[in-house]
Amino acid sequence: MSKPIPTVKLLINGEFVESATSQWRDIVNPATQEVLARVPFATQEEMNAAVAAAKEAFKTWRKTPIGARARIFLRYQQLIREHMQELAAILTAEQGKTLPDAEGDIFRGLEVVEHAAGIGTLQMGELANNVASGVDTFTLNQPLGVCAGITPFNFPAMIPLWMFPMAIACGNTFVLKPSEQDPMVTMRLAELALEAGIPAGVLNVIHGGADAVNLLCDHPDIKAISFVGSTGVGTHVYQRASLAGKRVQCMMGAKNHAVVMPDAHKQQTLNNLVGAAFGAAGQRCMAVSVAVLVGEANEWLPELVEKARTLKVGAGVEPGTDVGPLISRAALERVNGLIARGVEEGAQLLLDGRNPQVPGYADGNFVAPTIFAGVTPEMTIYKEEIFGPVLCVMQAATMDEAIQIINANPNGNGTAIFTRSGAAARHFQEEIDVGQVGINVPIPVPVPLFSFTGSRGSKLGDLGPYGKQVIQFYTQTKTVTERWFDEAEVGAVNTTISLK
Ligand code: NAD
Repeated sequence: MSKPIPTVKLLINGEFVESATSQWRDIVNPATQEVLARVPFATQEEMNAAVAAAKEAFKTWRKTPIGARARIFLRYQQLIREHMQELAAILTAEQGKTLPDAEGDIFRGLEVVEHAAGIGTLQMGELANNVASGVDTFTLNQPLGVCAGITPFNFPAMIPLWMFPMAIACGNTFVLKPSEQDPMVTMRLAELALEAGIPAGVLNVIHGGADAVNLLCDHPDIKAISFVGSTGVGTHVYQRASLAGKRVQCMMGAKNHAVVMPDAHKQQTLNNLVGAAFGAAGQRCMAVSVAVLVGEANEWLPELVEKARTLKVGAGVEPGTDVGPLISRAALERVNGLIARGVEEGAQLLLDGRNPQVPGYADGNFVAPTIFAGVTPEMTIYKEEIFGPVLCVMQAATMDEAIQIINANPNGNGTAIFTRSGAAARHFQEEIDVGQVGINVPIPVPVPLFSFTGSRGSKLGDLGPYGKQVIQFYTQTKTVTERWFDEAEVGAVNTTISLK
């Protein structure tokens, strides 16, 4: 008799509950096609119950002392550390990335949890003494109420941890909707959050697809929505939730260019490019998907191809794997289709990673590193985010020509320059219209002392996730102007409007 397939639970008001829905989806190991579990598409009643629980919990959570809130996140970061290997194993099984990459995914989220533990100073307001005679003005950064988060498949630990710890540390309550493709590690993180002391109703998790997202966008009791995912869905979420009067931040798709100057340190640059283009099978929103080789750096192309060819494609659990499988069969077909399109449209396929042989994993969704040269801006492989291990190479005569190419691209998530010239790097940093810039750093994702600052087509909403900006996003500033009368002044009538 075959083993029953486990089901992913909903988290409503502190309880992990089985959904009553009739609509389920398989969670599939991308290296083997084994069905790991089934995830429900929650019913309307269940989703409304999650929002109602969060609304009720807000009444007390918003008044919980800041030290008590902070201490939960101190415990939470410790629990995540203690469960790192267990979490990484779940993540690799459902998402496909290598075990070291899975630990990296969890670690980058853990850093946000550590930051949330410092909420005491982060949420402090400002005070100006004697703005008029005997009058002080100060600000309170107060929580908004129920906030919601919608996350993508590619970082199922880091991105949920970008969202709920900071929202909750600020005094809000939360409803999370993880990716339906790999929600299992997110649920384990939710269990640990409750173990750390997050009270019933403060964190809730629902599952589903478009219907769940639309319900969150429309629900009158939700005050703010944080979304990370593709540009098409993010634009829809931004418009729908903004129309419903909510605060919204959407971090979306990307096309990240790395500019290689001929004076760059060659081996370091090529190693960095290969890691940033093909690591995590190219399924990173900050992956380098375009290399712009300036002047003589173009001669490095054969060596780049040779380095990429040496990467080991395989299951994420196998030691030594560099490139794991893509998340799904649909993603595999899409990426293979885009590679075919690149060939049709005249790009030079220098390294063809389609249909690699992976011993022991004949059914995995694998694409090996793929490199196109001679890519031009009108080609589909340049215009679309491929989200696979495919690097497009372009040439530029000068750095300014490279900057023009990048600034003409609608996306603004990340970019990098490789050079040994401080002056060149500074010129690039000043002229480039992209929100996150790496100087000899291929994937410049900021640590949580800063915020994630993708720009232009990669982002909607003014404030980014984590860091200082997210405190503003998850709080309402209230400005209080106060005057206290001395006994001698009591009784005097003040009819003037201005403060003197
Ligand atoms: P996705 O847009 O398909 O899914 C994101 C979320 O939206 C999921 O929770 C999904 O259930 C939901 N969703 C899917 N279709 C929907 C619809 N029609 N209506 C409403 N909701 C819907 O994204 P993905 O494929 O899971 O993730 C990859 C994308 O995310 C890439 O474009 C990547 O660049 C982007 N991403 C961006 C960042 C960033 O910080 N800018 C970070 C990670 C990923």
